[in-house]
Amino acid sequence: MILPVSANLKEIEKKGRSYPWSKPEICLCCRQSHVWGHGFVEALFDGYAKALPLRRYRCPGCGCVIKLRPEAYFRRFQATIETIRSHIFSRLQAGRWPRGLSSARCRHWLRALKRQVLAHLGIEWLSRLPEAFDQLVSLGKVPVSRCI
Ligand SMILES: [Zn+2]
Repeated sequence: MILPVSANLKEIEKKGRSYPWSKPEICLCCRQSHVWGHGFVEALFDGYAKALPLRRYRCPGCGCVIKLRPEAYFRRFQATIETIRSHIFSRLQAGRWPRGLSSARCRHWLRALKRQVLAHLGIEWLSRLPEAFDQLVSLGKVPVSRCI
């Protein structure tokens, strides 16, 4: 399972594996055992040249692996949630993508958002995509994920 936590990417870049992650008190799956360190997974983020190590924990009781994820990011996305959101919102309002990121990448986000909306919310939400974006987030979905 993935646990979103507040994390300072600049500090992670500087300290690497010695970055002080806050460890969950108890296992989030069984809520009984204390968790143990279970290595790191590397993940890429915009603005960071190298992959950053993200902490993992494992529960000796139920075997659940908990991966900590900086809360400003969707899983498997390198841009912050706020960047993705603001790019889609300004495209919808101004009719063009803001400068900075590749527009091919942004178009993927918008296409994926429409698919997610159709899959989880219904066709009537296509006329209010900004609201739908936030609604999907509150349902625990990644609104720009390519997997339904
Ligand atoms: Zn457990």
